[in-house]
Amino acid sequence: MSSAAKAFQRRILEHVEEVEYVKEHARRVAETVIARVDVRELAQNSAGVVERIIATLLAELGPASRRLATLSATYAVFLGLPKLTAAQVRQLAEEASTKFFAFASPAMTDAGLQVSSRINDMVAAGVDPAGVNAALSSREGPRALMVPLAAVTKRVSASWMQFVDRDINDAAVSLAVDPPKTRARDRVFGEKIFSFVVDARPFTWIAVMDGHTCDGEFPFACAPRHGQRRTLIEWRYHGLPGSPVLVCSMHAPRGASPCRCVLASPKDLEAIEALEAIDAADAIKRGKARARR
Ligand SMILES: [Zn+2]
Ligand SMILES: [Zn+2]
Repeated sequence: MSSAAKAFQRRILEHVEEVEYVKEHARRVAETVIARVDVRELAQNSAGVVERIIATLLAELGPASRRLATLSATYAVFLGLPKLTAAQVRQLAEEASTKFFAFASPAMTDAGLQVSSRINDMVAAGVDPAGVNAALSSREGPRALMVPLAAVTKRVSASWMQFVDRDINDAAVSLAVDPPKTRARDRVFGEKIFSFVVDARPFTWIAVMDGHTCDGEFPFACAPRHGQRRTLIEWRYHGLPGSPVLVCSMHAPRGASPCRCVLASPKDLEAIEALEAIDAADAIKRGKARARR
């Protein structure tokens, strides 16, 4: 592999590691927020408690999501996509937290209800509140009751970070190929009609695998797409990385696909010409481990 290709691969793995780090950080924060929940209050008012958990997560993970948005925008430029403005990046991060709220709220409310009804069942069965508390504060019994809520909260928090990264990339693709909204007006006034040029360069699909996803020879798996070159408009038709049509994305919540593949169109084509599908398993492990330190 040429040194340009090595450097290109290194940069991709660096980003994979960063995203995994932020996702794991989000799971850890979710865990500590759940650990602080007052179980008795949860039993009495699960919807209110869940609402507060979400507000706490929005506050505690907001900075990490904005930081990731900036990193993802820089990464998009490295891949050959246009540069989003700082205001666009801020707005996309803001929209991602709104999306998080809409997507976390029903799932967490369900899980909260499930936990609170189990606690209430224990109380109804004659376990006194002290006994319930003891069950909840021991290693096995207690927080075991909280598992459904903790699991959902961790999952949605990590997904939030995943779709920040995805949304930034998708927005950069749109910037390259979607005529701006002012276009119709520009045409009327006969000005700036040709100021917008659709990016017609070929972009190469680089498969970024983790040993579990994207394999297989189906047309909608990532592996067979490695090395294929198409314009962004064509790729959009066939499914961009992370698109719901891909095998690895089908079971993921919308926008939270685990697909790590990228479309790249670097100035120095040599950097990607000989590039093989990238194995990101170690970078993923490194990112997670960093969040646990
Ligand atoms: Zn895939
Ligand atoms: Zn993929």
